[in-house]
Parts: sequence; structure tokens; C-alpha cells
Amino acid sequence: MRTPCHIHRVDGVIDATRQSERASTASAPRYAGAALSLGAVAPYGRYSNEKALGISDWGPKVPAQLAWCLQELPSLVVPLVCLVRPGWGLPNATNGVLLLGFLAHYANRALVYPLRIRGGAPTPLYVMASAFTFTLVNGYLQAGALGGPWADEVPCDAAFGGGVLLFLAGALGNAYHDALLRALREPGETGYKIPVGGLFEYVSGANYLCEMVEWAGFAFACRTPSAHIFAWCVAFNLAPRAVSHHAWYRAKFGDAYPSQRRALVPFLF
Ligand code: NDP
Repeated sequence: MRTPCHIHRVDGVIDATRQSERASTASAPRYAGAALSLGAVAPYGRYSNEKALGISDWGPKVPAQLAWCLQELPSLVVPLVCLVRPGWGLPNATNGVLLLGFLAHYANRALVYPLRIRGGAPTPLYVMASAFTFTLVNGYLQAGALGGPWADEVPCDAAFGGGVLLFLAGALGNAYHDALLRALREPGETGYKIPVGGLFEYVSGANYLCEMVEWAGFAFACRTPSAHIFAWCVAFNLAPRAVSHHAWYRAKFGDAYPSQRRALVPFLF
């Protein structure tokens, strides 16, 4: 994951937003979108060459595959290391199910997803470092809340069942929409095409929407402060990025970009 603590104003994105603002009729959701994208976009992926804080070159870049693996790995390794320490351990099966879900997400993100990236843009080292720091701290906090000496038992009730279902739907949706994006490129190809299929028919940030649902479900099920904070961090990170992607697509593809498509929430926003 990318931490919201490395968010920056990215000039190219702001320009794209302004263009789309001029071209469109005024509406509350669009102004909200512009405000979000003005606030924060991490300079990686399609924005990795953009200026951040007015500076265009923030040091070396790391190949996308390596960056994703290294920056996500702490959330897989830290819980496993912590759980074998004295005083740690899962108090009941529900805690185990939730931690397993967390670990499965990061096993995919750190080990499987990077191997399948096609033509991903390199990541600035400082972005990778801040994401690494976030996954390190977050891995410890989530593992601690579920299996640390201070962990409470998560009740096996409707909130747990509903949250787990939401988590699973979000996780599967996220992986599916990541795969749709991957399929837009042939091996060795770079560049961008208009995403098609699934929720991309409705929103530009379909993979992000699913990831937000995933961690919201996790928070509902866990009911721990750390899970709720994590879900909000994900939302504050990915919602502005979806808005920026949407403006970027509209600026790049113009009339060819489906006009009914929204940034993040189908039909609304
Ligand atoms: P993007 O959607 O920007 O990119 C995903 C991959 O698809 C990249 O390799 C990108 O290439 C490629 N791609 C994207 N759009 C197109 C297109 N139109 N045509 C061709 N290829 C395309 O996602 P992110 O890189 O920001 O995130 C990747 C995953 O990580 C997502 O599932 C996201 O939900 C998750 N994530 C989670 C966060 C969290 O806070 N939990 C934070 C950030 C990401 P390129 O690199 O060249 O742009």
C-alpha cells in the first residue's frame, strides 16, 4: 500500500483537473473531486515523473516490481514474526480468520502482484520508503490488535460475518480489476488505454473502490481502532487518486472517454 503521508500536489494532475473543469458543467460532485485531487496524489505510476512540492526529480527510481515487493513485504513479515514471540498468540478463531485475510492480501500484494505487473512505471525511492514505513507500522498494529498481548477476542456475530463478506468481496474485486488493467497491455508494452469491463464501465477507479470496500469490511469485522484508522487511511489515499486518474483519462482521451463514467462511486461521484 502507499501511505497517505507521502502525498503531494502533482502539477500535471491539477492541470488535467482544471481542463476537465472548464469542459464540464458545474456540479457539486465535480467540485468535490477537484478539491480532492488538488490536495494529494502520490507521484508514482503515471505520475512518477510529475513535480512533487515543485520539484520534478526527487532522486532515484526503483523498478515497479521491486518497489511493490519491498514496500508491501513488512505487512506480511512483521505479523508472522510477532506472532511467534512470547505473549503473542491468537485468542480465538475469529481473530485468526481476520489476520489470515490481512496476510493473504499482503502475500498477494508483495509476492504475486509484482510478478504480474506489465510495463509498470518505476517508483521514486522516497515514495517506496514511505510506503515501506507505513506497511511496517501498520503490520505491527493490525497484528497486535488481533494477536498481541493487548488483543481482545473478536465476537463471532453478524458484524463479523458481514464484515468478512465485505472484505472478501472487496479483495476479489480488487484483484479482478487489477487483472483487467494488466490485460490492457501486452507483455513488454507501456502506455495507457481506456479501461474496460467490470466496474470500470462505471468508474475510473474500480480497483481502488474495491480496495476501499475490502478494508472497510475488515474494520467492520475487527472493530479495533487500528483497523478503523487503517480503513480511513486507505480511503484518504485512494479516493484522491481515483479522482486524479479520472481527470487524467478525460484530459488524455477527451471525447473517446465514456462520458457516463464517474471517478469512484457509480452514477454519483
Ligand atoms: P493503478 O490503477 O494506477 O495501476 C495499476 C497497474 O496497472 C500499473 O501497473 C499501471 O501501470 C497499470 N495501468 C493502470 N491504468 C492503466 C491503463 N489505463 N492502461 C494500461 N495500464 C494501466 O494502481 P496503483 O498502481 O495505484 O495501485 C495498484 C494496486 O495497489 C491497486 O489494487 C490499489 O488498490 C492498491 N493500492 C492500495 C493502496 C492502499 O492504500 N491500500 C494504495 C495504493 C495502491 P503504470 O505503473 O505504468 O501506471
